[in-house]
Amino acid sequence: MKMKNLKRFQTGGTRSKMQLSIPLPQTPEGRVYRFSPNEDAHPRHFVLGEQVADSAAEESKRERMMHEPGSSKTICPYSGVVGNDDEFTHPKDKEAAIKIVKHAAMQDAQDAVSDMLKGVARKSRGGITYKPGSRTRRPRPQFGRRDLMRLLVCDCCGRDYGVYAIALYCPDCGAPNVSLHFSREVELVGRQVSIAEGLGEEQAELAYRLLGNAHEDVLTAFEAAQKVVYSHKVSLDPSRAAPTKAIRNDFQNVEKAQKRYAEFNIDPFNGLSDAEREALELNIQKRHVIGHNLGVVDAKFAENARNTRLGETVELLGSEIREFARLCQIVVAALDDWIGDVAALHRRAQKS
Ligand SMILES: [Zn+2]
Repeated sequence: MKMKNLKRFQTGGTRSKMQLSIPLPQTPEGRVYRFSPNEDAHPRHFVLGEQVADSAAEESKRERMMHEPGSSKTICPYSGVVGNDDEFTHPKDKEAAIKIVKHAAMQDAQDAVSDMLKGVARKSRGGITYKPGSRTRRPRPQFGRRDLMRLLVCDCCGRDYGVYAIALYCPDCGAPNVSLHFSREVELVGRQVSIAEGLGEEQAELAYRLLGNAHEDVLTAFEAAQKVVYSHKVSLDPSRAAPTKAIRNDFQNVEKAQKRYAEFNIDPFNGLSDAEREALELNIQKRHVIGHNLGVVDAKFAENARNTRLGETVELLGSEIREFARLCQIVVAALDDWIGDVAALHRRAQKS
């Protein structure tokens, strides 16, 4: 029997004992689906592309890597758990691979029967007639996933990948990537601001709304990055006897956030000058005014912000939003370094 369909997957072995390899399911852009073996990592799914930029030669960047890029190890971008590449295959993808093989074998068998009967039909005189029908092609099984993905290129090893939640680590070299992830958010916010700034006077209402959303997106991303990093650190600390108090919106408030970080003796806000810290806090308050009071200045905000009066609509400038994002980025970079210490520890443990 010809094994035309099965042979497409042959990577070795003999005719009677073929060794088959089924390529892993990919996104339309050619990235491979991966799935963290860590059950506690959320959301476990991510995609891995090729190395698209040069691996950084700078020592400071190389030091952040957990191991050499392009090795047979993968790192869970959400939890930092390290495993062999094949441990990152989704169980459903393994099932799917078996289905694909079955499907190809069925197709080969069907083709063989069809060929056989064609021979019979030609030989027979009278009696049985067989008209070979057009070979039915079984539709190949399809596997798809839909979710909004954030695409990143690691700034240490140049590997392209996509995540469905905040990435703490590069899945290839293991360098901390939360700062990289946040800068991608900032880049998108910058684009939103540019669109708003490009609108004419007659669309002022729409522009204000777009700026309001961009402003909110900065705080949302800032809060999310802090929550994820803090929770990750908590999960890595087995010495914590007492269960962690619910985070609620502690990371929407500089003072409350600092108390959380103080548990670990760090202060990621200490890279900000007094004026910068004040500007950061004012922007966080502004967010509450825009989000919860339709942009109308309330008593608390009027007390803290200069040049604003109770009952006025709070002013929102593109330049302020960019500055807000820049200040948040300084704090996130400090968090990235904090995670980097963990990467260094892993590396030292592996070497010894
Ligand atoms: Zn990397």
